[in-house]
Amino acid sequence: MERLDKILSNSGIGTRKEVKALIKQGNVMVNDTVVDDPGVHVDPSVDAIYVNGIKLVYRKYIYLMHNKKMGYITATEDDRERTVLDLLPEEYRHFKVFPVGRLDKDSEGLLLLTNDGDLAHRLLSPNKKVEKKYYVRVAGGLGDNEVEKFRKGIKLDDGYVTLPAELEILKRGDISEAYVTIVEGKFHQVKRMFLALSKKVEYLKRVSMGPLLLDENLKPGHFRELTEEEIFKLK
Ligand code: URA
Repeated sequence: MERLDKILSNSGIGTRKEVKALIKQGNVMVNDTVVDDPGVHVDPSVDAIYVNGIKLVYRKYIYLMHNKKMGYITATEDDRERTVLDLLPEEYRHFKVFPVGRLDKDSEGLLLLTNDGDLAHRLLSPNKKVEKKYYVRVAGGLGDNEVEKFRKGIKLDDGYVTLPAELEILKRGDISEAYVTIVEGKFHQVKRMFLALSKKVEYLKRVSMGPLLLDENLKPGHFRELTEEEIFKLK
């Protein structure tokens, strides 16, 4: 059971203030009764709720794909820095989403934001070994030697040896391009893996997380809701 105003705002009908007004004006029905008390407790999985005569499709959770833009930090709030949530469109603000995992300030690409704590927990759990794939541009040459080192595990600056990772070279040269796939998420992990091989990552963009692929039509700084199929695959 949950407060009626909370259910409506969680479902994207409006802010808490807006839905309170809607309810008080007599625009909301629960089953076959007009309810004008925003605080009344209702079970949205049992009771039928109507807003202006239209049946509510209840949703508690929201899943957003974000293409992170350089210069923003992955946090919900910060006193000095701009955060990815500063770019969140107004209509999603009341859902209280948070980022699942982290990308560095100068990184771009796929970030999932949700208010579904269980899903976030599962995706981030080290035991689940969820694959994260990154496109990188690296100063210095890459070859079979580096592929082998990634496959075996790389000793980082703090002595930690990474789990086997995949390095797929896309372009060889003074500036190399590659995909890196890792199954863990240590601090600055990809950059530190290359640094251990004396290479500097110049650009990093996450292209996938588990079954979720970055939508290449999603511009940096933009958000879109996941499709039913994407949510199904993630769960
Ligand atoms: N690894 C990094 O070094 N940076 C990121 O943003 C993500 C993975």
